[in-house]
Amino acid sequence: MRATVAGLHAELVHYGLVVWTAGNVSGRVPGEDLFVIKPSGVSYDELTPENMVVCDLDGNLVEGAHAPSSDTAAHAYVYREMPEVGGVVHTHSTYASAWAARGEPIPCVLTAMADEFGGEIPVGPFALIGDDSIGQGVVETLKGHRSPAVLMQNHGVFTIGKDPKAAVKAAVMCEDVARTVHVSRQLGTPLPIGSAHIDRLYDRYQNVYGQRSPR
Ligand SMILES: [Zn+2]
Repeated sequence: MRATVAGLHAELVHYGLVVWTAGNVSGRVPGEDLFVIKPSGVSYDELTPENMVVCDLDGNLVEGAHAPSSDTAAHAYVYREMPEVGGVVHTHSTYASAWAARGEPIPCVLTAMADEFGGEIPVGPFALIGDDSIGQGVVETLKGHRSPAVLMQNHGVFTIGKDPKAAVKAAVMCEDVARTVHVSRQLGTPLPIGSAHIDRLYDRYQNVYGQRSPR
């Protein structure tokens, strides 16, 4: 899991989702009440499996020479409250954060959005770093929602997945659709997709598309 989480940070850089050190990936250690997360303040090209940090589900450091990411409390809250989640990603990616800055959900106007998010990408509450309020906002918004991504108001994106790779994919797709819908808005009014069509697209993509490995 250390190697997986370290390696996935390169994807955040590759897809242009992060600048400096402002973004992080974590992954639950299978079968343990532990997760692996990025060390705080270490640049992406210096991340290795060895300098990843292991925390318990209260966000306490269990193993590692560095302090954990400053977003660790939010990741820990999600793992505590959503046992089905195996990976969490946080970014300030540009287009998605621009929607977050307005507190506006991204409407489901692309089939790719219906596929991946099953509807709009919702907005979570304004919350300050330092306690559980960001984690609470993420969980309150995503529990009972098909979207694996939430736009935290005035802040940025949190995504979840069955594993860290799925959470990274959701972060990449979230930024992609945020950009496309933004561009569409410049030229007119994007057309909504009917909810019955969204349901069909989501069901097909989640259950039929791809190589039929268990999801
Ligand atoms: Zn942040």
